[in-house]
Amino acid sequence: MQYPTTTRLFIHGQWRDAANGKTQPVLNPANGQQLGQLAHATQQDLDDAVASAQQGFETWRNIPAIERGVILRRAAQLIRERADAIASLITQEQGKPLSESRFEAHAAAEIIEWFADEGVRVYGRIVPSRDAAVQQLVVKDPVGVVAAFTPWNFPLNQVVLKLAAALAAGCSIIVKAPEETPASPAELFRALADAGVPAGVTNLVYGDPAEISGYLIPHPAVRKVTFTGSTPVGKQLASLAGQYMKRVTMELGGHAPVIIAEDADIELAIRALGTAKFRNAGQTCISPTRFLVHENVRAAFTAGLVRWAEELRPGNGLDDATQIGPLANARRVTAIETLIEEAIAKGAKLLAGGKRIGQQGNFYAPTVLDDVPLDARIFNEEPFGPVALIRGFTSLEDAISEANRLDYGLAAYAFSRSAKTIHQLSQRIETGMLWVNQPMTPSAELPFGGVKDSGYGTEGGPEAVEAYLNIRSISITHA
Ligand code: NAD
Repeated sequence: MQYPTTTRLFIHGQWRDAANGKTQPVLNPANGQQLGQLAHATQQDLDDAVASAQQGFETWRNIPAIERGVILRRAAQLIRERADAIASLITQEQGKPLSESRFEAHAAAEIIEWFADEGVRVYGRIVPSRDAAVQQLVVKDPVGVVAAFTPWNFPLNQVVLKLAAALAAGCSIIVKAPEETPASPAELFRALADAGVPAGVTNLVYGDPAEISGYLIPHPAVRKVTFTGSTPVGKQLASLAGQYMKRVTMELGGHAPVIIAEDADIELAIRALGTAKFRNAGQTCISPTRFLVHENVRAAFTAGLVRWAEELRPGNGLDDATQIGPLANARRVTAIETLIEEAIAKGAKLLAGGKRIGQQGNFYAPTVLDDVPLDARIFNEEPFGPVALIRGFTSLEDAISEANRLDYGLAAYAFSRSAKTIHQLSQRIETGMLWVNQPMTPSAELPFGGVKDSGYGTEGGPEAVEAYLNIRSISITHA
């Protein structure tokens, strides 16, 4: 699909330029050239978006959930029909291989369908009262206008998780989607509008992230804030939301530990973790990062992972042969390079990669580092790139302590054939999501979210809809 010259704001059912005509460029991560531009919202645009979302909320909340579900399922079908075109936009602006982009587009359709069904099952309850003359009800209502902030690593699906749950609950929404990858999320809004979502229910803006969050979060009309991104930014936004008593969901960073026990199926671990590690060039909050490998299987596992990394074919995501694309922006290349150099200077052994590829675009070779010192920055800060960090262990206790050492607690992985070891790890690793003997398989029906500094709230399962609902009790004495 041809990349749009300008990705515009979507406010009250209309695609429009910024009030003052301001734009900013969108770059192609595979070659650094300008792909197009986006409309950069002003305060006037944000005021219009809020007014639009307020009207949209009044319309949407009064449409029965079953009809909202029909409209959402229609949107899902349109996304499926347009998946190839949307995937092409994702790859052009974000860099991931087309096969991953297609998967993302189809997953978006599935997520919307799952939430469409879940919205129909937002039930209240009748609670037996202590007095025969009194009837007690528990009711659930949509919270109101939602402000959502989403990042560039999954341009479509970071939006769709918030949007589908909010719409299923009966809320309206203003999304500040990522400026680096604006055109593919815009297609989501187009599909929803084409499917019959009324004007004002979904609003899309781009601009200066800090300005937009600084304006929308305190705004009295906004009742719920949801953010996906780094822990430092999440903490700022959560504290701002706290000052204004706004409901919050925070899906933040991670530094996922992997424990490979002595009795693990090593071939399975290499396949599962090779896939999980280098998917989206490692720019995934649930990417496995700290590989803790039992000394008795360390050599075999490390050799296999190095082979996996070296055999991956990097390239432009639009080429069918490409297995790993460029990083999404130049910032990430600099960040990864700095972290890897510092780790090597501190004594880590470089076994694969460790360098940029080519002169053009944001390519960085799939990298494996062994014997990474605990005090290397990369073993403490989220790497968010194509790098696996290995250390050995002999006692499971030590591995569990290392897994829990950081303030992050988003995802973790374990490989073992022992039910006892699996049980122990399931109980003791401090993580929001644990995958055992498999790569990550997030799905709409499972909670998705972290503990500790990785945030709070969930973006999957029925709990994700609850996050957009007020729960009220009503006691009626029949006079
Ligand atoms: P960043 O922290 O500056 O930005 C992360 C996201 O937050 C971006 O989409 C950005 O637009 C948004 N953002 C930043 N400041 C904001 C503000 N004041 N108000 C509202 N939104 C704001 O970092 P970055 O360079 O874009 O990404 C690097 C880091 O972000 C990574 O190392 C990773 O830790 C984290 N990240 C996490 C996820 C995730 O899925 N949890 C996704 C992307 C990035």
